[in-house]
Amino acid sequence: MSRDSYQEMSAAVQAFHDKHDFKGSGGEDLVYRVALMSEELGEISAAVTKGKGQAALAEECADLLILLLGTEISGGFDMSAAFWEKMDELMQRPARMIDGRIRVSRFEGVEPE
Ligand SMILES: [Mg+2]
Repeated sequence: MSRDSYQEMSAAVQAFHDKHDFKGSGGEDLVYRVALMSEELGEISAAVTKGKGQAALAEECADLLILLLGTEISGGFDMSAAFWEKMDELMQRPARMIDGRIRVSRFEGVEPE
């Protein structure tokens, strides 16, 4: 299996959870995981706003992805199915330029263009 495959990455994160018994030690508590993901998002922000460079950005994005893969385990859902369902829906959404940046959204509660 390719190291780029979703299944391989998911299995590696499951092995990480098993190694430290996350399930039996609070590591799979969803509220705790939300806090950890917020922490990593802040680190991504700092990597960008403090100009730490591409390697730092990549490391912090990997931290967040690992947490997301672990949250799939904790939450007991199928991330691959959720990803493709959402991706298909996003591809159907309209896009608008807002303040010089593109935004893809359903634009619910927003005046039509
Ligand atoms: Mg980090």
